[in-house]
Amino acid sequence: DRVDNPYAGAKLYVNPDWSRKARESGGAAIANQPTAVWLDRISAIESGSAGSNTMGLRDHLDEALEQGADAIQMVTYNLPGRDCAALASQGELGPTEIDKYKREFIDPIAEIVGDPKYADLRIINIVEIDSLPNLVTNVGSRATATENCNTMLANGNYVKGVGYALATLGQFDNVYNYIDIGHHGWLGWDDNFTPTAQLLHKAATSEGATVDDVAGFAANVANYGALKEPYFTINDSVNGTSVRQSKWVDWNRYVDELSYAQAFRQEAVKAGFRSDVGVIIDTSRNGWGGSKRPTGPAAKTTVDAFVDGSRVDRRVHTGNWCNQAGAGLGERPKAAPEPGIDAYAWIKPPGESDGASEDIPNDEGKKADEMCNPDYKGNARNGNSPSGALGGAPLSGHWFQAQFEELLRNAYPPI
Ligand code: BGC
Repeated sequence: DRVDNPYAGAKLYVNPDWSRKARESGGAAIANQPTAVWLDRISAIESGSAGSNTMGLRDHLDEALEQGADAIQMVTYNLPGRDCAALASQGELGPTEIDKYKREFIDPIAEIVGDPKYADLRIINIVEIDSLPNLVTNVGSRATATENCNTMLANGNYVKGVGYALATLGQFDNVYNYIDIGHHGWLGWDDNFTPTAQLLHKAATSEGATVDDVAGFAANVANYGALKEPYFTINDSVNGTSVRQSKWVDWNRYVDELSYAQAFRQEAVKAGFRSDVGVIIDTSRNGWGGSKRPTGPAAKTTVDAFVDGSRVDRRVHTGNWCNQAGAGLGERPKAAPEPGIDAYAWIKPPGESDGASEDIPNDEGKKADEMCNPDYKGNARNGNSPSGALGGAPLSGHWFQAQFEELLRNAYPPI
């Protein structure tokens, strides 16, 4: 039988691949933190995800038993037509390859995960980052639409793939599936929020899945949204003007990940999910410490000056997602930190790139992405703003030493 929160009281698995890399790269102080194992292509099941990772899924599970861990975190990330609104993490499977996804990706994972020797290990599975949210915001007649996302909406393969992953892995009592819910700066607007909860419910009731296959949701995965904005809330106003009207907030209902995650949980229950679902918040890179962090609220002169001077999230725009300059490690992993929140967790392994701005030949499907170019001036998905990215990045998932060093320096809480 499943427990309500798989993180509660659990010793979490430390991924030796990441841990070694972090230790070698100046991160000894954090190298023993638990991070997620990514299954980002078929070959990752045997021999590890992109970059310097070498261990396959069975290696990890065996090592987890060795460590005496109670729980391991993994990410299943290989949908057909993956990353439809960007180029940095496009994958190995074309838009129509749903059968290959089922037979050569999910089924082999299930075969390993279902081995009775792992039955006492809680397997926390974060399902297909960014996919369903893209089908809400980046389709149809919206200015943010992309051709690839329209294709994936029309062919239904994201919904089918997520449903199949939930059903197939959810058949094991020790698997805890969490569906990706983007982040507040993506889905926090009314026209995105409720439709996302409904689409997730649709996926969770397709291909044989039921809501019992869903332990909860994962917010801010591989993103940079602040956990809590300590110096202003959505209810603040300046001379009678709501912060919702500032350029930064731009009518969003949320200013940080914690308030967003807690509200989304309730919306999901309304949409038909179980009342005991919980949310994981990825805090691997949303610390925003360092010398540029405000130390208190700014003066209430104009609404923009107040918000910009008060916010700890120092990005140019909340739609920016690639290797953000100035970011730091966030809250260290912690179980049940707040009501409705199952854990703060490091899902994106700090030091692994979000993508490259130049073409780097590879067999992973990844392409050059302008959002990773510091000189790029933006598009409709980031309010036509500069990308805010650090330059010189390697392919997504590959080790980015300069970013890792900055994450350590700007950690908040500090290391
Ligand atoms: C990449 C994956 C990688 C993951 C974790 C994603 O952006 O596409 O290859 O495993 O990040 O770093």
